[in-house]
Amino acid sequence: MFVPQKTQKKMKRITVAKGDGIGPEIMDATLKIILAAGAQIEIDEIEVGEKVYLAGNTSGIAKESWDTIRRNKIFLKAPITTPQGGGYKSLNVTTRKMLGLFANVRPNRSLFPYVETKHPHLDLVIIRENEEDLYAGIEHQQTDEVVQCLKLVSRPGCEKIIRYAFEYAKNNGRKKVTCFTKDNIMKQTDGLFHMVFDEIGVEYPDLEKEHWIIDIGAAKMADTPEAFDVIVTLNLYGDVLSDVAAQIAGSVGLAGSANIGEEYAMFEAIHGSAPRRAGQNLANPSGLLQGAILMLNHIGQNIVAETVQNAWLKTLEDGIHTYDIYKEGRSKEKVGTSEFADAVIARLGQKPTHLKAAAYGAARPVKLSPYKKRPPEKKELQGIDLFVHWAGTDANEIGEKLSEIRTPNLSLSMITNRGIKVWPEGFKETFCTDHWRCRFYPTNGTVPEKVELLELQQQALNVGIDVVKTENLYKFNNKIAYSLGQGQ
Ligand code: NAD
Repeated sequence: MFVPQKTQKKMKRITVAKGDGIGPEIMDATLKIILAAGAQIEIDEIEVGEKVYLAGNTSGIAKESWDTIRRNKIFLKAPITTPQGGGYKSLNVTTRKMLGLFANVRPNRSLFPYVETKHPHLDLVIIRENEEDLYAGIEHQQTDEVVQCLKLVSRPGCEKIIRYAFEYAKNNGRKKVTCFTKDNIMKQTDGLFHMVFDEIGVEYPDLEKEHWIIDIGAAKMADTPEAFDVIVTLNLYGDVLSDVAAQIAGSVGLAGSANIGEEYAMFEAIHGSAPRRAGQNLANPSGLLQGAILMLNHIGQNIVAETVQNAWLKTLEDGIHTYDIYKEGRSKEKVGTSEFADAVIARLGQKPTHLKAAAYGAARPVKLSPYKKRPPEKKELQGIDLFVHWAGTDANEIGEKLSEIRTPNLSLSMITNRGIKVWPEGFKETFCTDHWRCRFYPTNGTVPEKVELLELQQQALNVGIDVVKTENLYKFNNKIAYSLGQGQ
Protein backbone atom coordinates (compact mmCIF):
# COMPACT_ATOMS: atom_id res chain seq x y z
CA MET A 1 0.00 0.00 0.00
CA PHE A 2 1.18 3.51 -0.85
CA VAL A 3 2.32 5.51 2.16
CA PRO A 4 2.37 9.25 1.40
CA GLN A 5 5.64 11.05 2.10
CA LYS A 6 5.57 13.18 5.19
CA THR A 7 5.82 16.77 4.04
CA GLN A 8 6.15 19.97 5.99
CA LYS A 9 3.26 21.48 4.02
CA LYS A 10 0.57 23.11 6.12
CA MET A 11 -3.01 21.91 5.69
CA LYS A 12 -4.82 24.01 3.10
CA ARG A 13 -8.54 24.64 3.55
CA ILE A 14 -10.41 24.47 0.24
CA THR A 15 -14.02 24.81 -0.87
CA VAL A 16 -15.58 21.88 -2.72
CA ALA A 17 -18.86 21.73 -4.64
CA LYS A 18 -20.04 18.33 -5.81
CA GLY A 19 -22.37 19.81 -8.42
CA ASP A 20 -25.04 17.98 -10.38
CA GLY A 21 -25.46 14.94 -12.62
CA ILE A 22 -22.24 12.90 -12.56
CA GLY A 23 -20.66 15.62 -10.35
CA PRO A 24 -20.97 13.87 -6.93
CA GLU A 25 -19.56 10.56 -8.26
CA ILE A 26 -16.55 12.08 -10.00
CA MET A 27 -15.87 14.42 -7.05
CA ASP A 28 -15.94 11.51 -4.56
CA ALA A 29 -13.54 9.56 -6.80
CA THR A 30 -11.23 12.57 -7.20
CA LEU A 31 -11.09 13.38 -3.49
CA LYS A 32 -10.52 9.72 -2.57
CA ILE A 33 -7.52 9.58 -4.94
CA ILE A 34 -5.86 12.83 -3.90
CA LEU A 35 -6.36 12.17 -0.18
CA ALA A 36 -4.86 8.68 -0.57
CA ALA A 37 -1.88 10.34 -2.29
CA GLY A 38 -1.33 12.56 0.73
CA ALA A 39 -3.00 15.86 -0.27
CA GLN A 40 -2.83 18.17 2.73
CA ILE A 41 -6.32 19.62 2.41
CA GLU A 42 -9.29 20.31 4.64
CA ILE A 43 -12.65 20.61 2.94
CA ASP A 44 -15.62 22.95 3.30
CA GLU A 45 -18.44 21.67 1.14
CA ILE A 46 -20.97 24.03 -0.40
CA GLU A 47 -24.02 23.42 -2.58
CA VAL A 48 -24.20 25.10 -5.99
CA GLY A 49 -26.15 24.42 -9.16
CA GLU A 50 -29.52 23.02 -10.11
CA LYS A 51 -31.14 22.76 -6.64
CA VAL A 52 -30.00 26.26 -5.73
CA TYR A 53 -31.26 27.64 -9.07
CA LEU A 54 -34.62 25.90 -8.67
CA ALA A 55 -34.94 27.21 -5.09
CA GLY A 56 -35.19 30.65 -6.70
CA ASN A 57 -31.57 31.83 -6.69
CA THR A 58 -30.98 32.89 -10.31
CA SER A 59 -27.19 32.76 -9.98
CA GLY A 60 -27.10 29.15 -8.66
CA ILE A 61 -25.19 29.99 -5.47
CA ALA A 62 -26.24 31.25 -2.03
CA LYS A 63 -24.62 34.17 -0.21
CA GLU A 64 -23.15 31.95 2.55
CA SER A 65 -21.44 29.86 -0.13
CA TRP A 66 -19.79 33.00 -1.51
CA ASP A 67 -18.50 33.70 2.00
CA THR A 68 -16.92 30.23 2.15
CA ILE A 69 -15.33 30.58 -1.31
CA ARG A 70 -13.95 34.02 -0.43
CA ARG A 71 -12.55 32.80 2.88
CA ASN A 72 -10.76 29.73 1.48
CA LYS A 73 -9.74 31.29 -1.87
CA ILE A 74 -9.30 27.85 -3.53
CA PHE A 75 -12.38 26.25 -5.08
CA LEU A 76 -12.65 22.74 -6.57
CA LYS A 77 -15.92 22.51 -8.48
CA ALA A 78 -17.70 19.60 -10.15
CA PRO A 79 -19.87 20.36 -13.20
CA ILE A 80 -23.36 21.70 -12.64
CA THR A 81 -26.60 21.63 -14.60
CA THR A 82 -28.06 24.98 -15.62
CA PRO A 83 -31.85 24.47 -15.70
CA GLN A 84 -33.57 24.99 -19.06
CA GLY A 85 -35.47 28.21 -19.55
CA GLY A 86 -34.57 31.85 -19.32
CA GLY A 87 -33.40 33.92 -16.38
CA TYR A 88 -30.66 31.61 -15.01
CA LYS A 89 -27.20 33.11 -15.06
CA SER A 90 -24.18 30.88 -15.77
CA LEU A 91 -22.53 30.17 -12.42
CA ASN A 92 -19.19 29.61 -14.15
CA VAL A 93 -19.17 32.98 -15.87
CA THR A 94 -20.36 34.73 -12.68
CA THR A 95 -17.68 33.04 -10.52
CA ARG A 96 -14.90 33.87 -12.98
CA LYS A 97 -15.86 37.53 -13.07
CA MET A 98 -16.78 38.06 -9.40
CA LEU A 99 -13.46 36.58 -8.25
CA GLY A 100 -11.36 38.14 -11.01
CA LEU A 101 -10.26 34.75 -12.40
CA PHE A 102 -8.69 36.25 -15.49
CA ALA A 103 -6.75 33.23 -16.76
CA ASN A 104 -8.25 29.97 -17.92
CA VAL A 105 -5.52 27.37 -18.26
CA ARG A 106 -6.21 24.12 -20.10
CA PRO A 107 -3.41 21.64 -20.65
CA ASN A 108 -4.04 19.01 -23.34
CA ARG A 109 -1.88 16.00 -23.96
CA SER A 110 -2.41 12.89 -26.04
CA LEU A 111 -2.09 9.50 -24.33
CA PHE A 112 -1.43 7.52 -27.49
CA PRO A 113 -1.49 4.54 -27.99
CA TYR A 114 -3.52 3.96 -24.81
CA VAL A 115 -6.25 6.45 -25.73
CA GLU A 116 -7.17 6.73 -29.39
CA THR A 117 -6.17 9.97 -31.15
CA LYS A 118 -5.04 11.04 -34.61
CA HIS A 119 -2.39 13.21 -32.95
CA PRO A 120 0.04 11.08 -30.92
CA HIS A 121 2.43 13.98 -30.21
CA LEU A 122 -0.10 16.59 -29.08
CA ASP A 123 1.06 18.37 -25.91
CA LEU A 124 -0.19 21.93 -25.69
CA VAL A 125 -1.61 24.35 -23.15
CA ILE A 126 -4.31 26.85 -24.04
CA ILE A 127 -4.37 30.00 -21.93
CA ARG A 128 -7.61 31.81 -22.51
CA GLU A 129 -8.53 35.30 -21.33
CA ASN A 130 -11.48 34.69 -19.04
CA GLU A 131 -13.24 37.95 -18.20
CA GLU A 132 -13.80 40.16 -21.22
CA ASP A 133 -14.22 40.07 -25.02
CA LEU A 134 -17.77 39.12 -26.12
CA TYR A 135 -18.34 37.52 -22.69
CA ALA A 136 -18.86 40.92 -21.09
CA GLY A 137 -22.47 39.98 -21.80
CA ILE A 138 -23.50 43.46 -22.98
CA GLU A 139 -26.12 42.96 -25.68
CA HIS A 140 -28.85 45.20 -27.05
CA GLN A 141 -31.50 45.14 -29.72
CA GLN A 142 -31.15 48.50 -31.46
CA THR A 143 -33.57 48.34 -34.36
CA ASP A 144 -36.22 45.93 -35.68
CA GLU A 145 -33.54 44.11 -37.60
CA VAL A 146 -30.29 44.53 -35.71
CA VAL A 147 -28.96 43.29 -32.36
CA GLN A 148 -25.53 44.04 -30.98
CA CYS A 149 -23.04 42.36 -28.63
CA LEU A 150 -20.24 44.57 -27.33
CA LYS A 151 -16.73 43.19 -27.60
CA LEU A 152 -14.73 44.81 -24.81
CA VAL A 153 -10.98 44.34 -24.65
CA SER A 154 -8.90 46.26 -22.11
CA ARG A 155 -5.18 46.91 -21.79
CA PRO A 156 -5.09 45.56 -18.19
CA GLY A 157 -6.97 42.46 -19.41
CA CYS A 158 -4.47 41.89 -22.24
CA GLU A 159 -1.41 42.60 -20.11
CA LYS A 160 -2.49 40.24 -17.33
CA ILE A 161 -3.32 37.27 -19.56
CA ILE A 162 -0.32 37.67 -21.85
CA ARG A 163 2.13 38.08 -19.01
CA TYR A 164 0.51 35.08 -17.34
CA ALA A 165 1.07 33.01 -20.50
CA PHE A 166 4.76 33.92 -20.72
CA GLU A 167 5.31 33.32 -17.00
CA TYR A 168 3.47 29.99 -17.24
CA ALA A 169 5.69 28.94 -20.16
CA LYS A 170 8.83 29.95 -18.26
CA ASN A 171 7.82 28.19 -15.02
CA ASN A 172 6.73 24.99 -16.75
CA GLY A 173 9.67 24.42 -19.08
CA ARG A 174 7.72 25.33 -22.22
CA LYS A 175 9.58 26.68 -25.26
CA LYS A 176 7.15 28.72 -27.33
CA VAL A 177 4.16 31.03 -26.84
CA THR A 178 1.78 31.54 -29.77
CA CYS A 179 -0.79 34.33 -29.89
CA PHE A 180 -4.04 33.84 -31.86
CA THR A 181 -6.10 36.89 -32.89
CA LYS A 182 -8.16 38.18 -35.80
CA ASP A 183 -6.48 41.59 -35.92
CA ASN A 184 -6.58 41.82 -39.70
CA ILE A 185 -10.31 42.52 -39.21
CA MET A 186 -10.66 43.75 -35.60
CA LYS A 187 -7.81 46.23 -35.58
CA GLN A 188 -8.74 47.94 -32.32
CA THR A 189 -9.73 45.02 -30.05
CA ASP A 190 -7.69 42.09 -31.38
CA GLY A 191 -5.10 44.64 -32.51
CA LEU A 192 -4.57 45.69 -28.87
CA PHE A 193 -4.16 42.05 -27.80
CA HIS A 194 -1.54 41.44 -30.52
CA MET A 195 0.28 44.70 -29.76
CA VAL A 196 0.51 43.87 -26.03
CA PHE A 197 1.75 40.36 -26.94
CA ASP A 198 4.58 41.93 -28.96
CA GLU A 199 5.38 44.45 -26.18
CA ILE A 200 5.51 41.87 -23.38
CA GLY A 201 7.16 39.18 -25.51
CA VAL A 202 10.33 41.31 -25.67
CA GLU A 203 10.79 40.69 -21.93
CA TYR A 204 11.11 36.92 -22.55
CA PRO A 205 14.07 36.54 -24.90
CA ASP A 206 14.47 32.81 -24.09
CA LEU A 207 11.00 31.92 -25.33
CA GLU A 208 10.04 31.60 -28.98
CA LYS A 209 7.10 33.83 -29.93
CA GLU A 210 4.73 33.85 -32.86
CA HIS A 211 1.35 35.21 -33.91
CA TRP A 212 -1.24 33.48 -36.09
CA ILE A 213 -4.50 34.78 -37.48
CA ILE A 214 -7.04 32.65 -35.63
CA ASP A 215 -8.73 31.05 -38.65
CA ILE A 216 -5.63 29.55 -40.21
CA GLY A 217 -4.09 29.05 -36.75
CA ALA A 218 -7.11 26.99 -35.66
CA ALA A 219 -6.90 24.94 -38.85
CA LYS A 220 -3.21 24.31 -38.22
CA MET A 221 -3.90 23.36 -34.59
CA ALA A 222 -6.59 20.85 -35.60
CA ASP A 223 -4.27 19.38 -38.25
CA THR A 224 -0.78 19.62 -36.70
CA PRO A 225 -1.23 20.36 -32.98
CA GLU A 226 2.38 19.37 -32.25
CA ALA A 227 3.40 22.66 -33.91
CA PHE A 228 2.14 24.48 -30.79
CA ASP A 229 3.29 24.60 -27.19
CA VAL A 230 1.50 27.37 -25.24
CA ILE A 231 -1.31 29.27 -26.99
CA VAL A 232 -2.64 32.54 -25.57
CA THR A 233 -5.83 34.03 -26.96
CA LEU A 234 -8.99 36.02 -26.35
CA ASN A 235 -12.00 34.64 -24.48
CA LEU A 236 -14.26 33.38 -27.29
CA TYR A 237 -11.49 31.94 -29.47
CA GLY A 238 -10.01 30.23 -26.41
CA ASP A 239 -13.37 28.77 -25.43
CA VAL A 240 -13.80 27.11 -28.82
CA LEU A 241 -10.18 26.10 -29.36
CA SER A 242 -9.70 24.53 -25.94
CA ASP A 243 -12.59 22.10 -26.52
CA VAL A 244 -11.18 21.26 -29.95
CA ALA A 245 -7.73 20.64 -28.46
CA ALA A 246 -9.16 18.40 -25.70
CA GLN A 247 -11.26 16.42 -28.15
CA ILE A 248 -8.47 15.81 -30.67
CA ALA A 249 -6.13 14.85 -27.82
CA GLY A 250 -8.50 11.97 -27.04
CA SER A 251 -11.65 13.13 -25.26
CA VAL A 252 -13.15 16.19 -23.56
CA GLY A 253 -13.70 13.78 -20.65
CA LEU A 254 -9.95 13.70 -19.92
CA ALA A 255 -9.19 17.40 -19.58
CA GLY A 256 -9.20 19.68 -16.56
CA SER A 257 -8.97 23.42 -16.28
CA ALA A 258 -7.73 26.06 -13.87
CA ASN A 259 -9.28 29.51 -13.52
CA ILE A 260 -6.68 31.73 -11.93
CA GLY A 261 -6.92 35.22 -10.46
CA GLU A 262 -4.62 37.43 -8.40
CA GLU A 263 -6.13 36.13 -5.15
CA TYR A 264 -8.55 33.30 -5.95
CA ALA A 265 -8.53 30.19 -8.11
CA MET A 266 -11.15 27.68 -9.25
CA PHE A 267 -10.44 24.22 -10.65
CA GLU A 268 -12.78 21.98 -12.63
CA ALA A 269 -13.26 19.45 -15.42
CA ILE A 270 -13.97 20.97 -18.82
CA HIS A 271 -17.02 18.79 -19.49
CA GLY A 272 -20.57 19.23 -18.18
CA SER A 273 -22.76 17.29 -15.76
CA ALA A 274 -23.73 14.56 -18.28
CA PRO A 275 -27.14 14.05 -16.63
CA ARG A 276 -27.92 10.92 -18.67
CA ARG A 277 -24.94 9.13 -17.10
CA ALA A 278 -25.64 10.27 -13.54
CA GLY A 279 -25.94 7.85 -10.64
CA GLN A 280 -24.76 4.81 -12.63
CA ASN A 281 -21.09 4.66 -11.59
CA LEU A 282 -20.16 5.06 -15.28
CA ALA A 283 -18.56 8.49 -15.63
CA ASN A 284 -14.86 9.04 -16.13
CA PRO A 285 -13.48 11.08 -13.19
CA SER A 286 -10.28 11.97 -15.12
CA GLY A 287 -11.29 15.53 -16.15
CA LEU A 288 -11.99 16.57 -12.56
CA LEU A 289 -8.91 14.68 -11.35
CA GLN A 290 -6.85 16.71 -13.83
CA GLY A 291 -8.46 19.86 -12.39
CA ALA A 292 -7.49 18.68 -8.88
CA ILE A 293 -3.89 18.06 -10.03
CA LEU A 294 -3.72 21.64 -11.33
CA MET A 295 -5.01 22.73 -7.92
CA LEU A 296 -2.38 20.74 -6.02
CA ASN A 297 0.36 22.31 -8.14
CA HIS A 298 -1.19 25.74 -7.55
CA ILE A 299 -1.18 25.35 -3.75
CA GLY A 300 2.41 24.12 -3.79
CA GLN A 301 1.71 20.40 -3.22
CA ASN A 302 3.66 19.46 -6.35
CA ILE A 303 4.87 16.10 -5.12
CA VAL A 304 1.32 14.92 -4.43
CA ALA A 305 0.23 16.27 -7.83
CA GLU A 306 3.06 14.37 -9.52
CA THR A 307 2.27 11.14 -7.64
CA VAL A 308 -1.40 11.30 -8.67
CA GLN A 309 -0.62 12.15 -12.29
CA ASN A 310 1.85 9.30 -12.65
CA ALA A 311 -0.53 6.78 -11.06
CA TRP A 312 -3.29 8.00 -13.38
CA LEU A 313 -1.04 7.64 -16.44
CA LYS A 314 -0.05 4.12 -15.32
CA THR A 315 -3.73 3.18 -14.87
CA LEU A 316 -4.53 4.29 -18.42
CA GLU A 317 -1.42 2.52 -19.72
CA ASP A 318 -2.58 -0.67 -18.00
CA GLY A 319 -5.76 -0.45 -20.07
CA ILE A 320 -8.11 0.20 -17.12
CA HIS A 321 -10.65 2.42 -18.89
CA THR A 322 -14.12 3.85 -18.28
CA TYR A 323 -16.74 3.36 -21.02
CA ASP A 324 -16.03 6.66 -22.80
CA ILE A 325 -12.45 5.70 -23.75
CA TYR A 326 -12.83 1.92 -23.69
CA LYS A 327 -11.88 0.28 -27.03
CA GLU A 328 -11.95 -3.44 -27.71
CA GLY A 329 -8.36 -4.58 -28.38
CA ARG A 330 -6.75 -1.42 -27.00
CA SER A 331 -8.29 -1.48 -23.49
CA LYS A 332 -7.94 -4.34 -21.00
CA GLU A 333 -10.78 -3.77 -18.54
CA LYS A 334 -13.93 -1.65 -18.62
CA VAL A 335 -14.52 -0.17 -15.17
CA GLY A 336 -16.91 2.18 -13.43
CA THR A 337 -16.10 5.47 -11.70
CA SER A 338 -15.25 4.06 -8.28
CA GLU A 339 -13.29 1.06 -9.64
CA PHE A 340 -11.26 3.48 -11.76
CA ALA A 341 -10.47 5.51 -8.64
CA ASP A 342 -9.41 2.35 -6.80
CA ALA A 343 -7.18 1.37 -9.73
CA VAL A 344 -5.43 4.76 -9.58
CA ILE A 345 -5.01 4.46 -5.81
CA ALA A 346 -3.52 0.97 -6.24
CA ARG A 347 -0.88 2.51 -8.55
CA LEU A 348 0.13 5.45 -6.33
CA GLY A 349 3.92 5.47 -6.20
CA GLN A 350 4.23 3.93 -9.69
CA LYS A 351 5.23 5.69 -12.90
CA PRO A 352 4.03 5.05 -16.44
CA THR A 353 6.23 2.67 -18.43
CA HIS A 354 5.93 4.25 -21.88
CA LEU A 355 4.11 7.55 -21.52
CA LYS A 356 6.24 10.47 -20.36
CA ALA A 357 6.07 10.63 -16.57
CA ALA A 358 5.05 13.88 -14.90
CA ALA A 359 7.79 15.83 -13.13
CA TYR A 360 6.28 18.78 -11.28
CA GLY A 361 9.02 19.22 -8.70
CA ALA A 362 10.34 22.41 -10.26
CA ALA A 363 6.99 23.83 -11.44
CA ARG A 364 6.12 27.03 -9.63
CA PRO A 365 2.71 28.73 -9.68
CA VAL A 366 2.66 31.97 -11.63
CA LYS A 367 2.73 35.05 -9.44
CA LEU A 368 2.02 38.33 -11.18
CA SER A 369 2.57 41.73 -9.67
CA PRO A 370 -0.58 43.87 -9.54
CA TYR A 371 -1.36 45.79 -12.73
CA LYS A 372 0.20 49.27 -12.84
CA LYS A 373 -1.96 51.92 -14.48
CA ARG A 374 -0.25 53.87 -17.27
CA PRO A 375 -0.31 57.65 -17.51
CA PRO A 376 -3.37 58.89 -19.43
CA GLU A 377 -2.94 59.30 -23.19
CA LYS A 378 -3.56 62.55 -25.06
CA LYS A 379 -7.21 62.29 -26.13
CA GLU A 380 -8.54 64.50 -28.92
CA LEU A 381 -12.17 64.60 -30.09
CA GLN A 382 -12.59 64.12 -33.84
CA GLY A 383 -16.30 63.66 -34.47
CA ILE A 384 -19.21 61.35 -33.77
CA ASP A 385 -21.01 58.33 -35.22
CA LEU A 386 -24.79 58.53 -34.87
CA PHE A 387 -26.43 55.11 -35.20
CA VAL A 388 -29.85 55.61 -36.70
CA HIS A 389 -32.91 53.34 -36.90
CA TRP A 390 -34.49 54.04 -40.30
CA ALA A 391 -36.71 51.66 -42.25
CA GLY A 392 -35.95 53.03 -45.74
CA THR A 393 -33.60 51.28 -48.14
CA ASP A 394 -32.18 54.11 -50.28
CA ALA A 395 -28.95 55.41 -48.73
CA ASN A 396 -29.18 58.64 -50.77
CA GLU A 397 -32.50 59.47 -49.16
CA ILE A 398 -31.17 59.26 -45.58
CA GLY A 399 -27.91 60.88 -46.76
CA GLU A 400 -29.85 63.94 -48.00
CA LYS A 401 -31.89 64.18 -44.84
CA LEU A 402 -28.86 63.99 -42.56
CA SER A 403 -26.87 66.45 -44.69
CA GLU A 404 -29.23 69.15 -43.42
CA ILE A 405 -27.97 68.55 -39.88
CA ARG A 406 -24.74 70.34 -39.05
CA THR A 407 -22.89 72.40 -36.44
CA PRO A 408 -20.13 74.99 -37.02
CA ASN A 409 -17.48 72.23 -37.15
CA LEU A 410 -19.33 68.98 -37.92
CA SER A 411 -21.23 67.72 -40.96
CA LEU A 412 -22.16 64.34 -42.41
CA SER A 413 -19.13 62.68 -44.02
CA MET A 414 -20.16 59.05 -44.50
CA ILE A 415 -22.91 56.51 -43.90
CA THR A 416 -22.29 52.80 -43.52
CA ASN A 417 -24.70 49.90 -43.19
CA ARG A 418 -23.31 46.89 -41.26
CA GLY A 419 -19.89 48.52 -41.67
CA ILE A 420 -19.99 48.96 -45.46
CA LYS A 421 -19.94 52.46 -46.92
CA VAL A 422 -23.26 53.20 -48.67
CA TRP A 423 -23.10 57.02 -48.84
CA PRO A 424 -21.71 58.95 -50.62
CA GLU A 425 -21.18 56.90 -53.75
CA GLY A 426 -22.40 53.56 -52.44
CA PHE A 427 -23.34 50.61 -54.64
CA LYS A 428 -27.04 50.06 -55.24
CA GLU A 429 -26.32 46.29 -54.97
CA THR A 430 -25.31 46.55 -51.27
CA PHE A 431 -28.02 45.05 -49.08
CA CYS A 432 -29.09 47.47 -46.36
CA THR A 433 -30.75 46.79 -43.00
CA ASP A 434 -32.60 49.39 -40.91
CA HIS A 435 -29.42 50.24 -38.91
CA TRP A 436 -27.31 53.11 -40.29
CA ARG A 437 -24.03 54.42 -38.92
CA CYS A 438 -23.81 58.11 -39.82
CA ARG A 439 -20.39 59.70 -39.31
CA PHE A 440 -20.13 63.43 -38.59
CA TYR A 441 -16.68 64.84 -39.09
CA PRO A 442 -15.07 68.32 -39.00
CA THR A 443 -15.91 70.25 -42.18
CA ASN A 444 -12.85 72.42 -41.88
CA GLY A 445 -10.27 70.31 -40.03
CA THR A 446 -11.09 72.05 -36.72
CA VAL A 447 -11.40 70.05 -33.51
CA PRO A 448 -15.12 70.13 -32.59
CA GLU A 449 -16.45 71.22 -29.20
CA LYS A 450 -18.11 68.48 -27.15
CA VAL A 451 -21.31 70.51 -26.98
CA GLU A 452 -21.63 70.17 -30.78
CA LEU A 453 -22.24 66.45 -30.34
CA LEU A 454 -25.33 67.24 -28.30
CA GLU A 455 -26.43 69.90 -30.81
CA LEU A 456 -26.31 67.31 -33.59
CA GLN A 457 -28.50 64.93 -31.63
CA GLN A 458 -30.98 67.70 -30.82
CA GLN A 459 -31.22 68.61 -34.50
CA ALA A 460 -31.69 64.93 -35.44
CA LEU A 461 -34.52 64.68 -32.93
CA ASN A 462 -36.12 67.87 -34.38
CA VAL A 463 -36.31 66.37 -37.89
CA GLY A 464 -37.57 62.97 -36.69
CA ILE A 465 -34.35 60.97 -37.00
CA ASP A 466 -34.30 58.06 -34.50
CA VAL A 467 -30.78 57.97 -33.01
CA VAL A 468 -30.40 54.66 -31.12
CA LYS A 469 -26.76 54.96 -30.07
CA THR A 470 -23.75 57.23 -30.45
CA GLU A 471 -19.98 56.68 -30.41
CA ASN A 472 -17.53 59.56 -30.06
CA LEU A 473 -14.53 59.47 -32.40
CA TYR A 474 -11.15 60.14 -30.81
CA LYS A 475 -7.48 60.25 -31.56
CA PHE A 476 -5.36 58.82 -28.72
CA ASN A 477 -1.74 60.01 -28.69
CA ASN A 478 -2.29 61.41 -32.22
CA LYS A 479 -3.42 58.03 -33.56
CA ILE A 480 -6.87 57.50 -35.06
CA ALA A 481 -8.65 55.18 -32.61
CA TYR A 482 -11.74 54.04 -34.52
CA SER A 483 -12.37 51.95 -37.59
CA LEU A 484 -12.92 53.43 -41.03
CA GLY A 485 -15.91 52.33 -43.12
CA GLN A 486 -15.30 49.30 -45.35
CA GLY A 487 -14.92 50.71 -48.85
CA GLN A 488 -14.02 54.18 -47.48
P1 NAD B 1 -21.63 17.26 -21.14
O1 NAD B 1 -20.17 17.57 -21.15
O2 NAD B 1 -22.27 17.09 -19.82
O3 NAD B 1 -21.85 15.91 -21.97
C1 NAD B 1 -21.46 15.77 -23.33
C2 NAD B 1 -21.23 14.28 -23.65
O4 NAD B 1 -20.03 13.83 -23.02
C3 NAD B 1 -22.33 13.36 -23.16
O5 NAD B 1 -22.50 12.33 -24.11
C4 NAD B 1 -21.79 12.79 -21.87
O6 NAD B 1 -22.33 11.54 -21.56
C5 NAD B 1 -20.29 12.73 -22.15
N1 NAD B 1 -19.49 12.96 -20.93
C6 NAD B 1 -19.22 14.17 -20.36
N2 NAD B 1 -18.45 14.03 -19.28
C7 NAD B 1 -18.20 12.71 -19.17
C8 NAD B 1 -17.46 11.94 -18.24
N3 NAD B 1 -16.80 12.48 -17.21
N4 NAD B 1 -17.42 10.61 -18.42
C9 NAD B 1 -18.05 10.04 -19.43
N5 NAD B 1 -18.78 10.69 -20.35
C10 NAD B 1 -18.86 12.03 -20.21
O7 NAD B 1 -22.36 18.38 -22.01
P2 NAD B 1 -23.91 18.69 -22.20
O8 NAD B 1 -24.69 17.39 -22.29
O9 NAD B 1 -23.98 19.66 -23.30
O10 NAD B 1 -24.34 19.47 -20.88
C11 NAD B 1 -25.00 18.87 -19.76
C12 NAD B 1 -25.17 19.91 -18.66
O11 NAD B 1 -23.89 20.32 -18.19
C13 NAD B 1 -25.90 21.18 -19.09
O12 NAD B 1 -26.80 21.59 -18.09
C14 NAD B 1 -24.79 22.22 -19.20
O13 NAD B 1 -25.26 23.52 -18.95
C15 NAD B 1 -23.85 21.75 -18.14
N6 NAD B 1 -22.43 22.17 -18.31
C16 NAD B 1 -21.76 22.50 -17.17
C17 NAD B 1 -20.42 22.83 -17.24
C18 NAD B 1 -19.73 23.20 -15.95
O14 NAD B 1 -20.32 23.16 -14.90
N7 NAD B 1 -18.44 23.54 -16.01
C19 NAD B 1 -19.75 22.81 -18.46
C20 NAD B 1 -20.45 22.42 -19.62
C21 NAD B 1 -21.79 22.09 -19.53
